[in-house]
Amino acid sequence: MKDSCDSMGEQKAQGPVQTERIRFGAPRRYLINIDSISTSQLFADCVIVGAGIAGLRAALEAADRRNVIVVCKASLEDSNTWMAQGGIASVLRPDDSFESHIADTLRTGCGLSEPDTVEQVVRQGPELVRQLQDWGAGFDRVNDEIDTTLEGGHSHARVLHAHGDETGRAIAEALIARVKNQPNIRVIEHFFTIDLLTDPDNRCAGIIGRCQNRGLQIIWAATTILATGGGGQLYRETTNPPIATADGLALAYRAGAVLRDLEFVQFHPTTLYVAGASRALITETLRGEGAYLLDMKGRRFMKDYHESGELAPRDVVSRAILAQMRKTESTHVYLDVRHLDKEYFARRFPLISDLCESFDIDVTHDLIPVRPSAHYMVGGVKTDTAARTSIENLYACGEVASTGLHGANRLGSNSLLEGLVFGQMAGHAVVQRPPMDVTSLQHPAIRYQVPNSDRSRLDASDVRNSLRSLMWRNVGITRKAQPLAEAQEIIRFWDRYVMDKVFDTPEGWECQNMLTAALLIAHAASLRKESRGVHYRMDHTQTDDKHYHKHIEIVRAE
Ligand SMILES: Cc1cc2nc3c(=O)[nH]c(=O)nc-3n(C[C@H](O)[C@H](O)[C@H](O)COP(=O)(O)OP(=O)(O)OC[C@H]3O[C@@H](n4cnc5c(N)ncnc54)[C@H](O)[C@@H]3O)c2cc1C
Repeated sequence: MKDSCDSMGEQKAQGPVQTERIRFGAPRRYLINIDSISTSQLFADCVIVGAGIAGLRAALEAADRRNVIVVCKASLEDSNTWMAQGGIASVLRPDDSFESHIADTLRTGCGLSEPDTVEQVVRQGPELVRQLQDWGAGFDRVNDEIDTTLEGGHSHARVLHAHGDETGRAIAEALIARVKNQPNIRVIEHFFTIDLLTDPDNRCAGIIGRCQNRGLQIIWAATTILATGGGGQLYRETTNPPIATADGLALAYRAGAVLRDLEFVQFHPTTLYVAGASRALITETLRGEGAYLLDMKGRRFMKDYHESGELAPRDVVSRAILAQMRKTESTHVYLDVRHLDKEYFARRFPLISDLCESFDIDVTHDLIPVRPSAHYMVGGVKTDTAARTSIENLYACGEVASTGLHGANRLGSNSLLEGLVFGQMAGHAVVQRPPMDVTSLQHPAIRYQVPNSDRSRLDASDVRNSLRSLMWRNVGITRKAQPLAEAQEIIRFWDRYVMDKVFDTPEGWECQNMLTAALLIAHAASLRKESRGVHYRMDHTQTDDKHYHKHIEIVRAE
């Protein structure tokens, strides 16, 4: 089984990446009825939607000279960032180099990474990572030096980790503590952002959302930073927490922002598979440290698919597991760590150790049941190298953004790095802008009335579950024209009943956002008739540079 960009090698002589822009759909502009005059209002120089690594880092930078409101839809601890295990990549060792990290990132991106962005993120990484450490993110050390691990796709050991496999939590705790001590930042938890507000010239003027305690609320802001993370919940099998419902993609789309490379969804090869339990990620560092993959018959199979065996690229391992599951007619495969030193295992992977224990899996005797699941949104809201989106006053950073770092595939541990660097840049951009009187933003008032609908109501939670299964089946690890077309047709059918309703709860708005994001992803996947990076078409298995060395951008039709 080939890595889908084996043919690419380094990002080489194909010339600059081309762009194809599609105008698509025309959903209504806002999800709810709005009368800005009669809605409760707050004002800020900057409002940040999202409190993961990107949003919090942006807040700390912007708060240097501006007042900032950070909103998040659940508690501060509910984020993908909090759950990150393996680590954060950065060049900190003398035997490593920026050139090497840049080359690894470009190679993984399969020709679609933007070299300027890659260079910027890699070069700014070490300083910002050291700063994180100064702020209290206790990265693991050996002999008084930061410990770094080798991960698949990296040619040097450059992945920093904390408390073994609790890197995300250590980073989030450090950022949260600092944000709480910054008087210019106000955090509002349990605030669901429903839509971005735009003025008649389509400049972003803030957000409208529902605060659990105060109800509907508008936050007018000179700048808005979107840092809403990913959308793993679009799939039945996912490593992502419940907050990851792709809201940011959908609300940026409704506001008219350019979205890019949505077809690239990364699947993680190994998530714990215990029927009925949520899918917890088993970090690939485990395979880096010697764990084997076995099929139902107890046979090591990865060498059948790739010469690097268990250390093959993530997308290859995911497809190989899927193929082996089909071959052996089983629902999962196994990770075997029985030969690893038990004490070292418990020390190095405390989270996974506890997890296995909680399901009565004794790793010295038992195999760990695993299967792939949706993990990371590679595409997103298009930004330039300063985190600016195509909408004036709107910035994006973190997983919701398509900055150009990842191209067609994400190199492991580069996403925390991207969130950190682009978060800092978005915050810096806010500080650079001249101050303005934000109270002027409330004029002219925004009024919007959703057209009446007499279609009967579908059950949102039922649609949501069916959508997740459909995405897993038809827009998953391997794709084909017919299932992609069928997925779009079914989503459009659900759309007709769900998109014309006015919901008053996050569950309803999430369902609407998920339908929008799912349709965009399925559509983008149907347009790319080649295999590249994490996008694998069974009907077009080769990379086709002649026709597809390009980004696919989608913008809402007028
Ligand atoms: C299990 C797991 C392990 C991972 N391991 C690694 C790793 O080792 N290394 C690595 O680099 N990456 C890893 N990743 C990926 C990485 O964690 C994420 O890409 C990154 O943390 C995203 O950060 P973020 O700030 O963009 O978003 P998040 O951390 O996901 O934060 C999103 C924020 O947006 C808020 N939000 C969303 N929608 C709304 C809304 N409508 N209204 C208000 N607020 C909203 C949420 O409440 C949350 O605060 C992992 C991911 C998972 C799930």
